[in-house]
Amino acid sequence: MEPSNVPKYNAAVEALRETEYPMIKNSLYLDHAGTTLCAKSAMDNFASEMTSVLYGNPHSASPSSQRSTSRIEDTRMNLLSFFGADPAQYDLVFVANATAGVKLVVDAMRSQPEGWYYAYHQACHTSLVGAREEALHSLCLDDESVQSWIDGADPFSDSPHQHSTTTLFSYSAQSHMDGKRYPLSWSKNLKKAHASSESRIFTLLDASSFCATSRLNLSDPSISPDFVVFSLYKIFGFPDLGALVVRRSAEHVFDRRKYFGGGTVDIVVCGKEQWHAPKSHFLHERLEDGTLPFHSIVALDIAMGFHQKAFGSMDRVSSHTVYLTQRLLQGLKTLQHANGTPVCSIYTESSSDTDSLGTGPAVSFNLENSLGAWMGLAEFEKLANLKEIHVRTGGLCNPGGIASALSLQPWEMKRNFSVGFRCGAENDIISGKPTGVIRASLGAMSTISDVDRFIGFIEEFFRESTLPNTRTVNFDTHEANIPKSQAPLRVKAITVYPVKSCGGFSIPSGVPWEIRPEGLAWDREWCLIHQGSGHALSQKRCPRMALLQPKLDFEQGLLIIKYRGKRVQGCPDQISIPLSANPSLVDTGFQHVQSRVCGDHISAQMYTSDDINGFFSKALGVPCILARFPPGGLGASSRFSKAQIQRHQQLSTMHKLPGSFPEMPSPPDSDSEQQNPGKILLSNESPILMVYSTSVDALNKDIRDRGGKAVTDSAFRANIVLEQAGGSKGQQAFAEDGWAAVRIGRQNFKALGACRRCQMVCVDQETAEKKEEPYVTLAKTRRFDGKVYFGVHMRHDPPAESDHTSKETQYPTIEVGEAVTVEARDKITCLG
Ligand SMILES: *Cc1c(COP(=O)(O)O)cnc(C)c1O
Repeated sequence: MEPSNVPKYNAAVEALRETEYPMIKNSLYLDHAGTTLCAKSAMDNFASEMTSVLYGNPHSASPSSQRSTSRIEDTRMNLLSFFGADPAQYDLVFVANATAGVKLVVDAMRSQPEGWYYAYHQACHTSLVGAREEALHSLCLDDESVQSWIDGADPFSDSPHQHSTTTLFSYSAQSHMDGKRYPLSWSKNLKKAHASSESRIFTLLDASSFCATSRLNLSDPSISPDFVVFSLYKIFGFPDLGALVVRRSAEHVFDRRKYFGGGTVDIVVCGKEQWHAPKSHFLHERLEDGTLPFHSIVALDIAMGFHQKAFGSMDRVSSHTVYLTQRLLQGLKTLQHANGTPVCSIYTESSSDTDSLGTGPAVSFNLENSLGAWMGLAEFEKLANLKEIHVRTGGLCNPGGIASALSLQPWEMKRNFSVGFRCGAENDIISGKPTGVIRASLGAMSTISDVDRFIGFIEEFFRESTLPNTRTVNFDTHEANIPKSQAPLRVKAITVYPVKSCGGFSIPSGVPWEIRPEGLAWDREWCLIHQGSGHALSQKRCPRMALLQPKLDFEQGLLIIKYRGKRVQGCPDQISIPLSANPSLVDTGFQHVQSRVCGDHISAQMYTSDDINGFFSKALGVPCILARFPPGGLGASSRFSKAQIQRHQQLSTMHKLPGSFPEMPSPPDSDSEQQNPGKILLSNESPILMVYSTSVDALNKDIRDRGGKAVTDSAFRANIVLEQAGGSKGQQAFAEDGWAAVRIGRQNFKALGACRRCQMVCVDQETAEKKEEPYVTLAKTRRFDGKVYFGVHMRHDPPAESDHTSKETQYPTIEVGEAVTVEARDKITCLG
């Protein structure tokens, strides 16, 4: 329901727009709308004053200079009273922008003799986050940690540094990302809770976003923050100025500020003696270095007068924008595709009326298609630009807010950076997650029709009113190729081997695992390189590698490797390696380590940490270096699959006794991957290795018949182990030799050929002991053309590029327990 005053205000704004803001006549301006624009009358008034009144450079006695000085001081007072701030309690310092105000506070903190601690709230703007680089120790706090600080806990109790007696806490009055507001009372409560502590806590409030459409009331100095920064252009449109408001009781932190500039001193002595006396009366006199932007300050006074006349009080602006925000949120929320899925995934929470803080006019969201795939921001922007719609997209200078909205862990952001993502880049969907948001923000001059036009735009271009039939192309037809008579199999286990030839990490059931073109995510991305020969180590020579047990910890962003063997003197039990490409750990020079993996010359990133290399060298008793071979490499930093269909896999020979088949021509080229090989990381031959457990059982039967001891699936170091689904007939042992394609859940894979085996299968993956089996039996039962084969190489076979991406194609995954169907190789081709 529209509050009764909305139509009246809206009509007034519509009229105002006609005369005052012709530049937005044909555009939809939703980026701090209505606040960063210059009103025509304000500009006319400014021009007329500048051309009729003589303003001189302040700081001199001429009448023109005095006129400037008094106009500046009047404006300072007007601005203080705009915030209800008593000049006896506060001083106001003119600065270039809000960021410059933050830097003045940081300057003051930097001059504290024992240094300072810094805590900033997660929703802070980058300009406040950057302050941390100057502090002894800094923390990023979420709502809960701020509350526990207020409740008496000390967030710095684990600080590794010496104790500082000065702490600064910064937060935003309103997030410029999603409009969420944070209580003004935090300042007061925090100080109250720690009043008896020897450490002084100062608070810095960033009111840049909040003040653009709401009234900040500083009339009660006992509850207000010590420092408040503003972007004045976000309130009044013009000029481009900022302000820092300092509570008088906190002014003393600036006493040790070292730098002084023109205009900030009473006297300066140079030459043999060096001495100066800073101006002592007002803080602003000491902080406003150099000539003030006095013309701009005159413009500010004019713009403030215009704003007041045009829009009335900030409370009116506030109630209008609150209404528009709710309308926008509601409109976006109700947009649904034909299948009922939402068009927008919205990060702004709509606030109920009982919520006294409310939500500011910034609505953030991402777009999803009817199949749940994310729309890239670059794509959205192209259309918005064509339609003259001005909205902000991306990370919005709000790193903490974005990370929390998109649930991006710090290591994921670093990984995104290391795979080439930058603010504003085109590759904005990484591993199935967006890297930024779309933000529409409203202001004093936004109107109902702006909101409706934006909702209409989203509806017209991003809502699917009919469902695409690509879904059937991508999935169902392919499924139809698989004979239904073949009872389904199921995924028994999924394993990745992050460090080549070391232990495996079993993917727990219920965890979807990403499939990449190079193989399963995190499989064989690292290897150990022999310091002498430069060759990649393998269990063939170094069976103890099986005892290096990896664990992927995504909460912490770490690959943790535990050594399960007998304790080695001076070797820790485990070592952690960041999943993000941490440049401090690798040799960032041009000197990549040159190595050989399975005959390929490769170039990998070499770790320089003695702790990491020492751990592996001691555990294995071999001098070695850890190296990484991340996805996306080129040239010697990339490798290609070599797997191909073997002759024994051709149908006509499949059921004959090994060794007895007649000479056959090589398989047709179309069946091999040789012409267009896929990329791989450090696996031997192909992206993914699959083993069928019924074949393992058959092999074990042969082993036992020969008097040997059965082996487990793990001996074959497969990525995917398939088994017969309960109650089904499944497929015979070794049927995998004849499969052309495998479908797991909703993902298709292409079989690339049988996997050639060596003695490595004899290393017990639990104990690292080397035995005879299963190689001896395999050599009897599974030898073809003089080579021993077991298991099948595969690669992901994504659906053909279509304009309708689904969630499954944008972020393909498989899971333990998923149903599996297979497609046999076409007999005609095989006999061809
Ligand atoms: C715009 C903005 C800033 C940065 O202000 P500048 O005037 O560009 O320095 C900081 N914080 C918030 C919340 C903002 O909206």
